[in-house]
Amino acid sequence: MKSPRYTREIPQRFRLEAEKCEGCGKIHFPPRLICQECQSRNFSVVKLHDEGKVVTFTVIHVAPDQFATQTPYIVAIVELNDGVKITSQIVDCAIDDVIIGNKVKIVFRKVQQDGQAGVLCYGYKCVLLRS
Ligand SMILES: [Zn+2]
Repeated sequence: MKSPRYTREIPQRFRLEAEKCEGCGKIHFPPRLICQECQSRNFSVVKLHDEGKVVTFTVIHVAPDQFATQTPYIVAIVELNDGVKITSQIVDCAIDDVIIGNKVKIVFRKVQQDGQAGVLCYGYKCVLLRS
């Protein structure tokens, strides 16, 4: 069974949908009910930019059980080109390749396998943009 949370987050996980406040223009990701800047409740759906840069990162050596086979791996705060910050794994590179300021692009990958039924959960991760 996919968890209710996983299902609820599908628009964000797969379509990178965020909400733009009609009051002040701030983009919220994940979406919120009330704008934290201006308390407006009016939002329009916008798609996040799929490229950005690494603001900071950490290397995970001891992971929760479902990610244990992936260690060591990198979790970064990425600032997208529209100013939105997301937390994402950086994949397809050596640990030493990642430095603050690296340009990255969002890709879709298997995130985890759920339980014995082996239901696959997908989501976004980031890869380095080579220049
Ligand atoms: Zn607002």
